[in-house]
Amino acid sequence: MISKSHIEALIDLAARENKQELTACLVDNVRKISATTSISVYEVFNTKLDRERSDDVSGFIVRDARNAAWSGEPLAQHEGFSECVASKQIIRLQRPAISSTRIIFPVRGAHDVIGVLVIDCNNADAETLYMIEAMSQVWKSQQFLLDRNERDVLTGLLNRQALDSRMPHLFREAANPLPSSPIAKCLAMIDLDKFKEVNDRYGHLYGDEVLVHFVRLMTQSFRHYDYLFRYGGEEFVALLNNTDLEKALVILERFRATVASYDFPQVGNKTVSVGVIQVTDGQLPSTIMDKADKALYYAKQNGRNRICAYEQLLANGVLQENPVMNGDVELF
Ligand code: GH3
Ligand code: MG
Ligand code: MG
Repeated sequence: MISKSHIEALIDLAARENKQELTACLVDNVRKISATTSISVYEVFNTKLDRERSDDVSGFIVRDARNAAWSGEPLAQHEGFSECVASKQIIRLQRPAISSTRIIFPVRGAHDVIGVLVIDCNNADAETLYMIEAMSQVWKSQQFLLDRNERDVLTGLLNRQALDSRMPHLFREAANPLPSSPIAKCLAMIDLDKFKEVNDRYGHLYGDEVLVHFVRLMTQSFRHYDYLFRYGGEEFVALLNNTDLEKALVILERFRATVASYDFPQVGNKTVSVGVIQVTDGQLPSTIMDKADKALYYAKQNGRNRICAYEQLLANGVLQENPVMNGDVELF
C-alpha cells in the first residue's frame, strides 16, 4: 500500500537542488523500500558530431558517472542501453531465472539522452516496482531541470555556476589518484583574442555566431571526457582529464591552430590565447584558476594567438610564485 513515507520520499526528491544530493536521495529512498535493489547512474556521450538519423546511436558511449577519468565503452555493451537512448523510453528487462527486473531510464539533455539510470530490483513485488519507478521519474525530471540550470543558453556548454559547484569534487579526484592509475589533469583558461572588435565591427549577433562556431571547434578538439565550461563572455575553461602538461600542450596547440585557420562566417579569422597549468595535489581550486589566469594574461601581453604554461613561465623566470601561502591565508 502507498504510505505517507512514500509520498514524503517523492517530496524529498523534488526538493533537491544539487545533482549529487539528488542521486544520493534516490538511492536512500529506494533502499528503504527495497533493500536488495541496486542503482547505477551512467553518463552517455555522443562521439559523432552529426548523425543522419535521430535513432542512430552507434557513436554513443557510456561511462559510470562515479568514474570521471574513465573514457567509457560503447553503448551496445550493455543490454537495453542502445534501445533506451535511441527511443528515449524506459526499458524493462525481466530476468525470471534470478527473480530480477532491470529498469533503464533515459535522462534527457537539451537534445539527446545524456545519461541512463539503471535499477536492478530483486524479488520486488508489483507495488514496490511501481514506487521505485515513480521515484525514478521524479529523479529524472529533477535531473533534467538541474542540468538545464548548469548550461549556458547560447552555446550549450556548462556554465560558470557548474564549474564553481563541481570544482572541489573534480580537483579532489586529481589530488587523490588511485596508486595504480595516477590521473593527471590540466586546467586551461581559453580566451578569444580581440573579440570586442567583432561586436564593434559586425554587431552583437555576429559576435554570438562566432561564439557558437568557436564552441563547436572546442567540442571537436577536446575529448568527450574533458570538461568544457563557458566561464564568462568569451572566456572558457577546459579541464583535461588523464592529461599531463606535455599532452595538454599538444592538444591545446592543435586547437589553437584549428581556430587560427578557421573561416568564421562574415568575420573571417580569429585567434585564441590560452593559459594552462597541471593540477597538483594540495592546491586550492581558486589558486589553480588564478595561476592559469596569470599564464593567460602573459599570453595576451606577448602577442596573443599562443599557449602559455604556468610551470614553464615559472621555470623561465618570467613569473614568480606568490609569497608562501597556506590555504588562502598569506603568512608573513
Ligand atoms: P583580448 O584579446 O584582450 O581578450 O580582447 P577582447 O576584445 O577579446 O577582450 P575584452 O575583455 O576587451 O572584450 C570582450 C568582449 O566580449 C566584450 C563583450 O562585448 C564581448 N562579449 C561578452 N559576452 C558576449 C556574448 O555573449 N555575445 C557577444 N556578442 N559578445 C560578448
Ligand atoms: Mg578576449
Ligand atoms: Mg576576456
